[in-house]
Amino acid sequence: MAGSSRLIIARLIWNKTVRLSAVLWRIISGVSNPKTKQVWQLLGQSLNHLLWPAVCMNCRESICETDKDLCKDCWDELLFCTAGDYCPRCGRDASRYGLLNGACPDCQGREFNFDQIARAGIYDQSLQRMILAFKNGRTELDSTLGFLANSALQGADFYGDIEFFVPVPLHWSRRLVRGYNQSLVLAKQLKHPTAKISTDLVRIRRTKLQPAMASPAARARNVAGAFAVRRGHNFSGRKICLIDDIKTTGATLNECAKTLRAAGALKVFALVLAVAGQKQ
Ligand SMILES: [Zn+2]
Ligand SMILES: [Zn+2]
Repeated sequence: MAGSSRLIIARLIWNKTVRLSAVLWRIISGVSNPKTKQVWQLLGQSLNHLLWPAVCMNCRESICETDKDLCKDCWDELLFCTAGDYCPRCGRDASRYGLLNGACPDCQGREFNFDQIARAGIYDQSLQRMILAFKNGRTELDSTLGFLANSALQGADFYGDIEFFVPVPLHWSRRLVRGYNQSLVLAKQLKHPTAKISTDLVRIRRTKLQPAMASPAARARNVAGAFAVRRGHNFSGRKICLIDDIKTTGATLNECAKTLRAAGALKVFALVLAVAGQKQ
């Protein structure tokens, strides 16, 4: 009796195995057919979407797989923030027809330690929210912000001149708390045929967080003497592009550029994600 039961169970297992193999074989052989492959891919994507629904990287709204990380509202806001012309000296909104000697009326007669600036957009709406999130742990935003930064970089007159990308450094204690320097993470996303990243510019003094309403003079005092270059740096005679997330009054970029020039840099440019303080 026991022998025949074992035989029945063995036959059942065999039958199931044969059927499962047939199904698997049909799937595998079907994959070589482009249409079937497409169907399986679609099924796979749907299952993936069901298990891990795609959400907007900025506002967490549900989106389609084809929406490129952001919902339509966030893309619209980003396009609004990144659409306008700007002054290549200060980065603030300016019509290209209103520039005189490559600078807006506000910049006439003003001295900066950096030669030119490129920006992805203005510090507003979804671009502002994305930058704040990027600084608060959401480093996965690097590819979207990197895409915007690369667009600005490739449109800049100084693109072909750059030899080094130098991220604006954080004081080591602040980097320890945050875990990363957002400007360095951004710099790693930049595409350039020859330029390399250098981290030989360092912040030697912990500065106060720049209060939003502080005057340009107060902000300049806050960062005065805060930067230095490492021994063995390679900045002498080089054309350097500083990388930062936000430019407000430009005090930080100006102080970094001053330090790089003192170290022998020939040209200092700047690339930022956003320029704030349009009315200043
Ligand atoms: Zn969104
Ligand atoms: Zn200007």
